[in-house]
Amino acid sequence: MRKKIIAGNWKMNKTIGEAVELANGIKLDLAACTEVDVVLCPPFTALKSVSDVVSETQIAVGAQNMSSEDEGAYTGEICHTMLKELFVRYVILGHSERREYYKENDFWINKKVLKALEKNLRPILCVGETLAQREANETEKVVEVQIREGLKDVPASAYTELVIAYEPVWAIGTGKTATAEQAQEVHAFIRGVVKDMVGAEAANAVRIQYGGSMKPANAEELLSQPDIDGGLIGGAALDATSFAAIVKAAL
Ligand code: PEP
Repeated sequence: MRKKIIAGNWKMNKTIGEAVELANGIKLDLAACTEVDVVLCPPFTALKSVSDVVSETQIAVGAQNMSSEDEGAYTGEICHTMLKELFVRYVILGHSERREYYKENDFWINKKVLKALEKNLRPILCVGETLAQREANETEKVVEVQIREGLKDVPASAYTELVIAYEPVWAIGTGKTATAEQAQEVHAFIRGVVKDMVGAEAANAVRIQYGGSMKPANAEELLSQPDIDGGLIGGAALDATSFAAIVKAAL
């Protein structure tokens, strides 16, 4: 039985003070939640403060990106050592906004995934098709390439640590959600690709989140699908009550 995982991607929102306020609000409701893994992913600048707020709770902290390198002359980058020093346990990699605006590609995303796993950080690898790709019936082709390339050389034993987030790009921040059936279909497809890559045991173990306008009103239906193991939440994660309601829908 896979434990559900709900992660809040705060993106480029929240100053330190605002992040502390939001984390405190979430902590009020979810500090002792053990049935679902709860992860908060604030911007880099608020990681330390949010880590302090949730220390000694069941809530984990994640970053929104990470360098594939260990240290050195990489202006503007943040490496695994810096994240681990702040008690970060997860890292979102390959988010569609990074693919689109910063031209991240599967090659570099794969290097980051491998580095995160090597350093005991849990990657949340994001994959998903654009609207044009869905309309051209290319969803499976696009997602399969992202999975095969993004998870290249990841051993079967690591699939219990990593998380895949299926996020149809057309559903992110648009208010449009994939129907539960559409999402389930792609999640089952992804699990099949993983099975083909590394075998049934790893495919059954890997957690696959849905992301794309998940909110309290649609969370329960999405989360009740057999291959949907949680959610990566953007907009609704910026409100403590909404985020907590989504976590409760996963119980
Ligand atoms: C996201 O960006 O990961 C996301 C799912 O955003 P939203 O929930 O706002 O669609």
